[in-house]
Amino acid sequence: MGPLPTRKTSRRKTATRRAHDAHELKHLVRCDTCGEYKVAHRACPKCGTYNGRTVIDTKED
Ligand SMILES: [Zn+2]
Repeated sequence: MGPLPTRKTSRRKTATRRAHDAHELKHLVRCDTCGEYKVAHRACPKCGTYNGRTVIDTKED
């Protein structure tokens, strides 16, 4: 026996582990500035602010 896994990981075990993966995508909070839903700890894609500070220039045209 070498330094290899004893068994192939079952579909069940893989699926169970992956069950938490999508969680990151669900960190939606309301923007303090415009009230739009945005990903937590990311600048708001709508108004371009983070923590009340403008960090992205959202005005394009
Ligand atoms: Zn916003």
